[in-house]
Amino acid sequence: MPSISTAGSGSDVIVVGGGLIGCAIALRLAQRKVPVRVFDRGEPGAEASSAAAGMIAPQGETVEPDGFFTLCAASRDLYPRFVKEVEELAGQTVDFHRDGALLVALDEAEAKDLERIYCGQTRAGLPVEKLSGEEVRRRLPQISPQVLGGIFLAGDHWLNNELLVTALRQACRKLGVIFHTQNEVAGFETNGGRVESIEIISGSRSAPIRYSASHFVLAAGAWSSDIAASLNLPLPVQPCRGQMVEFDGAAGFPHIVRAGHFYCVPRAGGRLVAGSTMEYAGYDKAVTAGGVLSILERARRLAPGVTELRFRRAWAGLRPDTPDHLPILGYGPWGNLAFATGHFRNGILLAPVTAQIVTDLILQGKTSHPLKTYSPLRFQSLQPAQETG
Ligand SMILES: Cc1cc2nc3c(=O)[nH]c(=O)nc-3n(C[C@H](O)[C@H](O)[C@H](O)COP(=O)(O)OP(=O)(O)OC[C@H]3O[C@@H](n4cnc5c(N)ncnc54)[C@H](O)[C@@H]3O)c2cc1C
Repeated sequence: MPSISTAGSGSDVIVVGGGLIGCAIALRLAQRKVPVRVFDRGEPGAEASSAAAGMIAPQGETVEPDGFFTLCAASRDLYPRFVKEVEELAGQTVDFHRDGALLVALDEAEAKDLERIYCGQTRAGLPVEKLSGEEVRRRLPQISPQVLGGIFLAGDHWLNNELLVTALRQACRKLGVIFHTQNEVAGFETNGGRVESIEIISGSRSAPIRYSASHFVLAAGAWSSDIAASLNLPLPVQPCRGQMVEFDGAAGFPHIVRAGHFYCVPRAGGRLVAGSTMEYAGYDKAVTAGGVLSILERARRLAPGVTELRFRRAWAGLRPDTPDHLPILGYGPWGNLAFATGHFRNGILLAPVTAQIVTDLILQGKTSHPLKTYSPLRFQSLQPAQETG
């Protein structure tokens, strides 16, 4: 066994994982003058947080608003301030747009789904506007002539998540957050009811190094369960691959447009991103012919003129999914290790509220958001994870 050395014991909070979730938490803690170190095995923000479509869209798939919708809507409402602070600190824009989402029905099944969303959200008092096929065509001339109708959700927004992760990292740096990039965390060391340190395997050294702190946050996205295995805690986060395609020359797409699970989201400069796929293919981030084909077919079904657009690029990312598709938030058995992972399809949307919750837990020991549904302990009936050597 290689020998273990200890370093950097002066930091107060160590965040494992520098995606949008980890960096948003680091920002909020640093704003409260807490010394923070973020460890990432690659470049912060380069995984799911960059791969996403950038929708801040809690209403888009909600039929009957529930507790999870309340959490999502709270995060959506935190976004304008979050973006303003990040942009000011970083001196960069993240291209945040609060101009709504148009959901359209291209067949009877989609029309029924939209009717359910419309009825459920109207009953809940949410802003939702019903549109005939003709009204949809007037608003969006690019739409397929097959369109039967639509609903417009003024409360759904979007931004450029690639710009957001870059700006957020810059903002964190301005506030003194230390990033340890290319540092893979192997696991946590515990003593009694507390975590004492993380063990990292640095690319440039062969021996593991330990970093200690008073608090820890696990925010390693789709890779979280491997790290939690060192705690013998079953944390069933699994990667769900999503492929995306980007086009050039799509000026005139005014906001998010969706048909069922398929969506198009505008980007500055006439770009348009379209997606996605939902595939359980392990940690393979390959862009496949089948994945791209399914996106192109659904794009053509939504707006036939898409076939004239210039193909720009395609990519894939790994959503951190859980058995109930809900995030894992709050404390488990260790009083100084907070979990902030498993955000599945909503991690961009949920970043500000997750950062607020974790910051409140660390600094005040409590949060106003009910966390029982998101407890890391809810999977305990599952087999314990294998201990790593
Ligand atoms: C195609 C696609 C479209 C999406 N669209 C949307 C959308 O429109 N809106 C929305 O809200 N959400 C969307 N999502 C979901 C969203 O991207 C994720 O929920 C969110 O990015 C998760 O953030 P994260 O910080 O937890 O994970 P990540 O961004 O994956 O970050 C995890 C970080 O942990 C690091 N890490 C992993 N293992 C280790 C280790 N052992 N040691 C140190 N560091 C480690 C990784 O390098 C990575 O940087 C989409 C996802 C995909 C794939």
